[in-house]
Amino acid sequence: MDTPAARVAAANPLLLNIAIVGGGVGGLTAAIGLRRNGHRVFEKSSDSTRGSGAAIHLCPNANGILRQMGIYAESFGACSMSRYIELTKDGHTFKDVDLTEANKRWPHPWQLVLRAALYQELKRIATSEEGDGVPVDLVFSCQIIDVDPQRGALTMPDGREHQADVIIGADGIYSTARRSIKDVKLLPTGKAAFRFVIPRSAAESDPLTAPLVSQKDALTMWFGDDRRVVMYVCDDNEQLNLVLIHPDVESHAVPEDEWTKDASVEQVLSVYRDFDPRLKALIRKASSLSLKVWQLLDMEKLPRWVSGKMALLGDAAHPCLPYQAQGAAQAIEDAAALSVVLPGATAPGEVHDRLRLYESIRYERAHTVQEYSRLAGQDWVDGKPVVDMRKFETYNFGHDEFANAAEYLALWERSHV
Ligand SMILES: Cc1cc2nc3c(=O)[nH]c(=O)nc-3n(C[C@H](O)[C@H](O)[C@H](O)COP(=O)(O)OP(=O)(O)OC[C@H]3O[C@@H](n4cnc5c(N)ncnc54)[C@H](O)[C@@H]3O)c2cc1C
Repeated sequence: MDTPAARVAAANPLLLNIAIVGGGVGGLTAAIGLRRNGHRVFEKSSDSTRGSGAAIHLCPNANGILRQMGIYAESFGACSMSRYIELTKDGHTFKDVDLTEANKRWPHPWQLVLRAALYQELKRIATSEEGDGVPVDLVFSCQIIDVDPQRGALTMPDGREHQADVIIGADGIYSTARRSIKDVKLLPTGKAAFRFVIPRSAAESDPLTAPLVSQKDALTMWFGDDRRVVMYVCDDNEQLNLVLIHPDVESHAVPEDEWTKDASVEQVLSVYRDFDPRLKALIRKASSLSLKVWQLLDMEKLPRWVSGKMALLGDAAHPCLPYQAQGAAQAIEDAAALSVVLPGATAPGEVHDRLRLYESIRYERAHTVQEYSRLAGQDWVDGKPVVDMRKFETYNFGHDEFANAAEYLALWERSHV
């Protein structure tokens, strides 16, 4: 293979050869960090469209890492999360909070961004000829079919093997890499989510829905006992992202649906038939062509994330339910920790111990955030929330994984001289 990374490999046999399985948010962030450490990074992804279709929160803890990597989401359309509104299912306001002052607690902004825009930027930086290190070899349509962590071997779709000093399993909730550690069960939560994006102008031009979108940089939620709706701006306030979480039996979502099951406007209207007429008017503005439904799955806790030369990150290791908007953020934190424990000039013989260090840095925090996400998603009882959605913010947002991992590494290095 004559690529920039392969040429550097030939010229610098002492650099680590790192293979990342999966080019999602976590895999690409790890690729950027590790490339900047000087390593040669090959990233295999099964598709190139995963980033499309919806928006995500970039919470302050994720943004702190991205900004330290020179990635400023406002430059590709991210909006501030400045206002938080909660409505009953009938549309009565019971909470309306201006977050401008409260957000000053965090050293980095809380933003709302189109997933595709974030994904494109990560991909651009990972593969750019500019910047430190060697451009990442990003190979699409390359569904890895097996991983041997002890030998550091990946099996490609055509049966050929790719050998690496380090393998990072960043291949999402349906991870193939994870199977070499444990074939854990994915657990249905009984919930599924419809997702779609509509132009904000469509809501503004309808007198019924216009009051709902009169404020920029806002997130609005409607709560019923066993279903809820999240609506927030993205794309420089030009678009509205809607996530509608409901009992999965009502949309017939099943675990095999993965990311791709189509849904219809009629189906969404039926699931939300008892809700605010203004919400139903917004749903009618969706295009059935872009409407999808996702099964929300949990996972049995893995006893470890590391085996031999391989470490898992992100959803492959600890998938988070979406109620705290922390799944991608935790994948980004994992990526930051990996890039701290594998600095340039790491000897191949140290890889396993350093990956174990990564696991010890990240295991408790990622699983704690995962548990908070479960709690935040609990159904309401007697028309009241069981848990305040924003209760875990200090733990989630007030964390700098670069600084945290650097402290652990310094202690580890002192005990290894
Ligand atoms: C409804 C909903 C809303 C959400 N909202 C938020 C939010 O606001 N904020 C937030 O932080 N998180 C949010 N999340 C969670 C977030 O989307 C995930 O936690 C995050 O995408 C995980 O990143 P990842 O890189 O670990 O995995 P993924 O993003 O799933 O990426 C995995 C990649 O691996 C590739 N792949 C898979 N198998 C293979 C293989 N065998 N070989 C090669 N490549 C492979 C895939 O094609 C993909 O590119 C939400 C999730 C849902 C369902």
